[in-house]
Amino acid sequence: MADIIVLGAGMVGISTALAFQKRGHSVIVVDRKQPGRETSFGNAGIIQSEAAEPYALPLDISTLFKMAAGISNDVVWSVSGLMRMTPALLSYFRNSLPGRHRRISQIYAGLTCRATQDHAPLIEAANAQNMISKEGLCVLYRDPRAFEEAAAAAERIRSTYGVPYRALAGVDYAAEEPALKVTPAGGIHWEPSWSCANPGALVEAYADLFRARGGEVLEGDAATLKQAGGSWSVSTAGGTQQASTVVVALGPWSPQLLRSFGYRIPMVYKRGYHGHYESRTPLRRPFMDAANGVVAASMQTGLRISTGAALVPLDAPAEPKQLVRGRQALGELIDLGRQIEEPQWFGTRPCLPDMLPLVGPSPRHKGLLFNFGHGHQGFTLGPTTGDLLAEAFDTPGSGVLTGLDPTGRIAV
Ligand SMILES: Cc1cc2nc3c(=O)[nH]c(=O)nc-3n(C[C@H](O)[C@H](O)[C@H](O)COP(=O)(O)OP(=O)(O)OC[C@H]3O[C@@H](n4cnc5c(N)ncnc54)[C@H](O)[C@@H]3O)c2cc1C
Repeated sequence: MADIIVLGAGMVGISTALAFQKRGHSVIVVDRKQPGRETSFGNAGIIQSEAAEPYALPLDISTLFKMAAGISNDVVWSVSGLMRMTPALLSYFRNSLPGRHRRISQIYAGLTCRATQDHAPLIEAANAQNMISKEGLCVLYRDPRAFEEAAAAAERIRSTYGVPYRALAGVDYAAEEPALKVTPAGGIHWEPSWSCANPGALVEAYADLFRARGGEVLEGDAATLKQAGGSWSVSTAGGTQQASTVVVALGPWSPQLLRSFGYRIPMVYKRGYHGHYESRTPLRRPFMDAANGVVAASMQTGLRISTGAALVPLDAPAEPKQLVRGRQALGELIDLGRQIEEPQWFGTRPCLPDMLPLVGPSPRHKGLLFNFGHGHQGFTLGPTTGDLLAEAFDTPGSGVLTGLDPTGRIAV
């Protein structure tokens, strides 16, 4: 019998398993797929130390109008998505008001600022340095006024949270980025962020490290989770597994499982798509085209374009219109080359209405821990919240570390 079962083998689950293992606990990970095959597979691969402030809902009328009218490409929505997520969206809206967003950002910045430090020993031990670039992330602006506003906002982020950046005039940015075929208005270069050329493979490398250190990853369905007496059990291909503690790290699927234990977790599901291109000139560093809400990043599989948020139900069919628009927009900036044929990937950012991951013990079930809801930055934050949770576990009396408690109160 292991001490801990971690449900979910995405970046969050595998990093959590490694963190508990490092503290001397015996750990089993259970997933219905191989490690790193869902949301952690197809993201933009950026370890976002620059993301001090989580994405708030826009509050200004013109942005809301553009979203409502389908003009904006960074956020799209469906009626069924909005209807199913109404309570979560209303709470998200309240938490986006400046005072609350400021308090939330103070916590969030404390997580993102240590993210590269928390990944570093795992990257080294997993021998994954060849996938990592430390060139930062650029945000590209086409319009001089938007660049000016972004430079002022970047300066506020630097002075508030200490995140270093460079504001690059268009000519300087074009000189640094050989792939650009036009000179933009400018770029904000966030220097401390790292990027990964194969996010799914990094999770696999971390899972291999976990196995090499004595851990087991087993195929199984988290829906078989049961509590009996003082322990938890789950059915796997390797037989029924039992442990006194179970960690729910199922990303966007976490609320589904927890409903059967009486928890109603409000979640905002923000779907994103990616596509790959045979572009011949690799990017020096990933960049986001701010006007179109798409990110371009050189990957081992080709140049990856990934999209912003589609507010649709978790099980909605694929509708990659943001990807189509994003491809058109990015084609104006760089030569994309031929599109690589592949099944259409999409994944869902699991966002909680207070923009913070929910990390800590459940309030009503002994031995049930939460670690999910990492939204736009789960690839970044997996090792950080894994480490925080494992540390709190070994510190009796600690409560919810970040995020909403399941009654909906904000723990900020
Ligand atoms: C387009 C896009 C771009 C992004 N870019 C970035 C980025 O650049 N940087 C960043 O930090 N973040 C990024 N993100 C967000 C990031 O990908 C997620 O926050 C992160 O992957 C969530 O990790 P996770 O481990 O919580 O979830 P997942 O990776 O989805 O893992 C959950 C696991 O649970 C398993 N599972 C689900 N249900 C069951 C069940 N019933 N039984 C057993 N197993 C089950 C799944 O198979 C899966 O392996 C992006 C997301 C998208 C969509």
